[in-house]
Amino acid sequence: MTVQGTADRKEIRVLQLYPRDMNIYGDYGNALVLKRRLEWYGYHPVMLTYDPGDEFPTDPDILIGGGGQDSGQDKIQADLLGIAEKLRGLAEQEVPMLMICGLYQLFGHFFETREGFRIQGIGVLDVETYGTDNRLIGNVVSESEQFGQIIGYENHSGQTYLGSGVEPLAARVTTGEGNNQNDDGEGARYKNVLGSYLHGSLLPKNPAIADFLIDTAVHQKFGERITALQAPETAGMTLKNLTDQARVTAATR
Ligand code: GLN
Repeated sequence: MTVQGTADRKEIRVLQLYPRDMNIYGDYGNALVLKRRLEWYGYHPVMLTYDPGDEFPTDPDILIGGGGQDSGQDKIQADLLGIAEKLRGLAEQEVPMLMICGLYQLFGHFFETREGFRIQGIGVLDVETYGTDNRLIGNVVSESEQFGQIIGYENHSGQTYLGSGVEPLAARVTTGEGNNQNDDGEGARYKNVLGSYLHGSLLPKNPAIADFLIDTAVHQKFGERITALQAPETAGMTLKNLTDQARVTAATR
């Protein structure tokens, strides 16, 4: 399906944090999904990135961030602490965000590596992470009250524990481990900030979460909801038609 020019449409600004150092196991797919679904819903996605030393983009509507090696986390730590106030402010304004694995950990209070070295986080999420000798690797299936089944792939040595200021994103992991080996939760949520260990990428496998981020952003910015909207070139088509059509296109290419 070709998407028509979108320059005259309402803009939604999607900001990907630290793609240079924090972007593994396909996390960039989350940016691609937001871009394409925003187009489907009739918006003009403006895709932005922020790496250490960049000027922080003005007025982002959705923020996303990915996972990384401990060394990548160490690299961005100082810069992240430098923009912490901005990020906390955006979180308090209920801007939707999705932070995966390494950035999920650093949106918490800290990540203490196995060697006892503390990488300070920004405390948007009331969680703490401790490095362990067990690397948790594999597919995850979890159940969330809001989003239904959430699936993905985890690969982390840090194990995360939630404080009272957050709720788990998914309360019950049925396959894999999620936050840690001691409780059943996966990820965390504070206001509209979601943290999760799931790569894969997460959003292609869990479009309900993509739509939550988009719907929250367009509601905040324009006072409208995506369910009531259709892109002009897709009028009359359901999302299922669109997905089927995209699959046929891909298969015949
Ligand atoms: N380095 C962190 C850990 O191993 C995060 C890994 C990741 O982002 N996949 O826990």
